[in-house]
Amino acid sequence: MPEIHAARRRRAQEFIRAQDADAVLITAGPNVRYLTGLASSNAALLLPADGDRALLATDSRYTGAAQRDAPDLELLTERFIERALAAEASRRGMRKLAFEAHEMTVERHGELAARPDGIATVPFGRMIEALRTVKDAEELEKIEVACQLSDAALARVLPQLKEGMEERAVALLLDHQMALLGAERPAFDTIVASGPNGAIPHHAPTGRPLRRGDLVTMDFGALHDGYHADMTRTVAIGAPAGWQRDIYDLVATAQRAGIEALADGVEAGAVDAAAREVIEAAGHAGHFQHGLGHGVGLEIHEAPMLGYGRTGKLSDRVPVTVEPGVYLPGQGGVRIEDVLVVTAGGGARTLTSTTRELLVL
Ligand code: ZN
Ligand code: ZN
Repeated sequence: MPEIHAARRRRAQEFIRAQDADAVLITAGPNVRYLTGLASSNAALLLPADGDRALLATDSRYTGAAQRDAPDLELLTERFIERALAAEASRRGMRKLAFEAHEMTVERHGELAARPDGIATVPFGRMIEALRTVKDAEELEKIEVACQLSDAALARVLPQLKEGMEERAVALLLDHQMALLGAERPAFDTIVASGPNGAIPHHAPTGRPLRRGDLVTMDFGALHDGYHADMTRTVAIGAPAGWQRDIYDLVATAQRAGIEALADGVEAGAVDAAAREVIEAAGHAGHFQHGLGHGVGLEIHEAPMLGYGRTGKLSDRVPVTVEPGVYLPGQGGVRIEDVLVVTAGGGARTLTSTTRELLVL
């Protein structure tokens, strides 16, 4: 879809002109992909402030992919892409080059700044990340497919869960089913946390076997065509104890409050507050210490962040996760996470569809 990428580059050029720079050097991988279509671990884009003569640089491993996915762009095949693009900028008479300071290492910037032609470098800011928050129809479709693959994998794994199965085995089952269903790969390292391990929000799966009386939290997602899904369900192995049922109901209520707060024009911090107040009112303020959610797209965690004190407004076509949790040290925890898209008409559309009722296995 070269025309989609060209349109994105034209929007990015407005930011370059606003900074009075001659061009921007895009070096963050997801941003290069967003603006060109090329997925590569070694690619950069020199985008001039005006015109359509953008120059894509990558090494010979990606030449074929670049010709296929970014056929409209001039291509420079080079191992040391930043050096080559800076030299080309100089050759084209550019004097002020914006760069992605949040991604550039001090060492790499030192090389750019030490050029004898005296090109000035200015930080570009997270401008492409800001553009990426609002998704087009094709991006939303890819995220939706990623979410459907995740739901489908969980539906296949749930009947297989039983006492004695290790956390690591459960994680492998989820990853395996996502792959069989057609996912590119897991969107991130799958989390399976059983019993007391459930109190650790980002617990890495261990050899601990599932036991009767455990709550088991599974946080996972599929990657589809570069786009990430992210969902969490907590299930009970055997009839849940009273405290387990209580924190589950509390987290589910908090999630509903967060979801109801999602709307076009709402402050990100207000969505976090809506869910957090429910948990705080139940006396668990200290047991929910992470942000409520985050954007998803070409990265698993991207803008906007729905965290305590985060600013910025949500708008139509922004997908976010809503993932409150309650974590009781030494006992266990619950997290429920879904991906939703904010819609212009108000409210949000849910992309992950697995039930949010407590499943007792
Ligand atoms: Zn997650
Ligand atoms: Zn998440």
